[in-house]
Amino acid sequence: MPNGEIERTLAACRTCDSVYASRKWSDGTIQPIGRPGCQCGSTQFRTIKNTGTPVIPEKKIK
Ligand SMILES: [Zn+2]
Repeated sequence: MPNGEIERTLAACRTCDSVYASRKWSDGTIQPIGRPGCQCGSTQFRTIKNTGTPVIPEKKIK
């Protein structure tokens, strides 16, 4: 299986926002690693771009 076809990424459930380590296939399908879908039963995910910013936004810091 050639590298580059599948991108490892973080993905969040569109329904409940649970975050999973996932694979993004070249056709755009996102699938959590090691499980068929989200704990809530959804299989719709959105990727979370890892651009150096925290996945979970920090609250205001005084
Ligand atoms: Zn979910």
